[in-house]
Amino acid sequence: MKIVIANSIGKDKNADYIIHSPSRWSEAVKSKFHWFAYYPWELAYLSSLLKQQTKHQVKFIDGCLQRLDQEEYYKLIMSEKPDMLIIESATRMIEENIALALKIKAVCNTKLVFVGPHASAFPQQLIDQGIDHVCIGEYEFTVLDIVQLKPKDEIPGLYPNGRRPLLDIKTLPWPEDDDVSRMDYAVPGEPSCEFREIQMYASRGCPGGCNFCVARHVYYNQANWRKREIKDIINEIKHLREKYPQMQGVFFDEEAHNSDKQFILDLTAAIIENKLDDLKFEAMCDLRFLDEPVMRAMKNAGYYKLRIGIESASEKVLQAMGKPRDLNKTIDLLKSAKDIGLKTYGTFTFGALGSNKIEDEKTVKLIENLLSSNLLDNLQLSICTPQPGTPFYVYVKDQGFLRKKISDSDYDGGSTAVLDYPDYTHSKIEEVKRKALLVRDHIFMAQKIKKNGFGQWVVFVFKRYGFIGFLVKGFKRLGREVKFQTIRWTK
Ligand code: SF4
Repeated sequence: MKIVIANSIGKDKNADYIIHSPSRWSEAVKSKFHWFAYYPWELAYLSSLLKQQTKHQVKFIDGCLQRLDQEEYYKLIMSEKPDMLIIESATRMIEENIALALKIKAVCNTKLVFVGPHASAFPQQLIDQGIDHVCIGEYEFTVLDIVQLKPKDEIPGLYPNGRRPLLDIKTLPWPEDDDVSRMDYAVPGEPSCEFREIQMYASRGCPGGCNFCVARHVYYNQANWRKREIKDIINEIKHLREKYPQMQGVFFDEEAHNSDKQFILDLTAAIIENKLDDLKFEAMCDLRFLDEPVMRAMKNAGYYKLRIGIESASEKVLQAMGKPRDLNKTIDLLKSAKDIGLKTYGTFTFGALGSNKIEDEKTVKLIENLLSSNLLDNLQLSICTPQPGTPFYVYVKDQGFLRKKISDSDYDGGSTAVLDYPDYTHSKIEEVKRKALLVRDHIFMAQKIKKNGFGQWVVFVFKRYGFIGFLVKGFKRLGREVKFQTIRWTK
């Protein structure tokens, strides 16, 4: 059987570029200068598992990496004439991914398997639309069972059967690196990496319970944290380094890299012991488990940046989103990280449960303070989007907060708020998020010019994006600065 494993379409019907991250949140950007591709890690694990465990012809294709629109992607997948097509889609692109899959099925009689968050949240809808198999939650071994033609009612995780117990990640082979190159996702600067870092996964899961979190609720449906063998992680790094001499580092992009202190102490010791500490490492970390000894161990092993979910300056909002945290402790931790010599990257979100304009404005102010005082080096801003399948979605739907005239493609964590709270409308949420972006861009620009001078900034942008990119970036930057100054002087 010829099996195609396909990441989502990479360019939507409006010709916007998709940044696809189904277990978190996907978004579209208008300019390719703002676009990048995440390595589609769970599909990539599925691909290597099917290649290892079956004799079928398995082909992995990434329409996001290639920035393909529906028509271009259709041609590429059709050239494989698949007997089975597996697609992981977020709600953001579900309509177009289903349309693509059905078009292929109509010609090749292809069996369609849908996995990922939207499929997990609305399995019957997908079956009604003509999808043959829908997997719920973590799906690698569910798809393996389907491919091995096990009786349908004996496959846990396959709708309408119950969920499959969480898998033992130690049983997974290393993810796909033949049909796509993991190096192709390692572009310096994206996703906010400073070096050519390959995206890797030392653990899976999170002991937290944020009510908006797709990974926690839709994929795993429980608090959990699973680690790989240290030896296997080290061997994978060595293998990647040998295969890709141009590789400069590793971005551990799992949910919560540091959930077990001893694990980090052992991993960092092994990195040093195996002389891999000249590489640059960064990781998605959980604030609750960071302390000075852990951060020092990371620094000594070559970690240069910690990514942490700060989310909000409002303790009321943090409480309501299921991530209670004393803000002073967060600031103390950032100070310690900087004293140790680590860079910091924070994620922030607007429009979460419990928020209103006043509470979210506090987050804008916090961002301004953290950036200005150099406690934060970089950040990510999102609109807290109630993705189907999460408790956040269920709550706002029950309360009637979801906007009436929204489509699936509006579930985009970058630009569109899909809900109206009684005292905080979607347009206000979007406005506050835009304001935070203006603040960020202004401070970054001012810091760069102060450090290197205006001429250096011009040269940097020119070299990185070329002449057209330079013009686009330059005009946009100028426009944003005018807006920032307007907000500042009219408030
Ligand atoms: S801490 Fe991060 S990974 Fe864990 S539940 Fe919250 S958002 Fe999800």
